[in-house]
Amino acid sequence: MDMQTSFLDRLFEAGLLIDTGIDGLYGRSGQFEEVIAAFERLIDKVGGADGAEAMRFPPGMNRAFFEKSGYMKSFPQLAGTVHSFCGSELDHVSLLQCMEVGEDWTKGQEATDIVLTPAACYPLYPTVAKRGNLPKTGGLFDLQSYCFRHEPSKDPARQQLFRMREYVCMGTEEHVTDFRQRWMDRGVEMMKAVGLEVTIDIANDPFFGRAGKMLANNQRDQNLKFELLIPITSAANPTACMSFNYHQDAFGTKWGLNLEDGSVAHTACVGFGLERIALALFHHHGLDVKTWPANVRKALWG
Ligand code: ATP
Ligand code: ZN
Ligand code: MG
Repeated sequence: MDMQTSFLDRLFEAGLLIDTGIDGLYGRSGQFEEVIAAFERLIDKVGGADGAEAMRFPPGMNRAFFEKSGYMKSFPQLAGTVHSFCGSELDHVSLLQCMEVGEDWTKGQEATDIVLTPAACYPLYPTVAKRGNLPKTGGLFDLQSYCFRHEPSKDPARQQLFRMREYVCMGTEEHVTDFRQRWMDRGVEMMKAVGLEVTIDIANDPFFGRAGKMLANNQRDQNLKFELLIPITSAANPTACMSFNYHQDAFGTKWGLNLEDGSVAHTACVGFGLERIALALFHHHGLDVKTWPANVRKALWG
């Protein structure tokens, strides 16, 4: 049995994660949720004075916006779509027959207008674009959403449905890269306050296929993505618990996000992987919150 399996098994045994029979799809205990809630309050405290506009979207988004985002060009392997039965009574009879004999009943399911949200910021860009030009001060948004990625794994830190807390900044290049740097510094400080050792490294997204290799190299060469890494299931391959992304003017151009003077907005987003942060805390301080170091408990619960 490898390390990953055993950490997952220990989380199941402790009741912190609840097995559903699907890798990467877990229930969470009240204790696990309390840790996430406490960490989110810490995020609120650190980011609160910035005056971000909070918005909460459900974990499904408008399929037309998803299509326009280009997600299927870059990450078709991760996407999840919502399909429903849209047939007649006759179709229903054959559907039930299909299920009865154990044949594939999902073939007749039709795509709905909803897809599962792949990252918390995806529904934001078209929403903000609809408002017209951004004010002089740019835009700053506070988001949290369940996100779906089809990447089943025995690693408890790689889930298929997980929560991402994000801040998204829109403005000039300098404005949004300053924002990104500020959150890298804050991220390191916050993790230190809860007793977690971190490293920051350049990263790339898992772009699909051979053409994706070039996109990934380009992303690295231009320092567009950084990750804050914490060892969870492997010391050699620490886990990304936060990401810091600079999109240049790509999203601004795609969605028609303009500044007050009509120029195209640059955008950046920082994401906290909430389950990963909770798992890092349980991994480093133990599965029983009551035994965590006093300074860590104080940072989380005052
Ligand atoms: P990884 O490199 O581990 O696949 P990522 O770079 O794809 O992560 P992002 O797309 O930047 O991650 O997502 C923002 C944050 O969401 C990450 O920093 C991470 O903390 C969290 N996250 C991403 N994928 C998962 C997942 N499958 N399960 C849990 N958390 C995740
Ligand atoms: Zn984002
Ligand atoms: Mg990933």
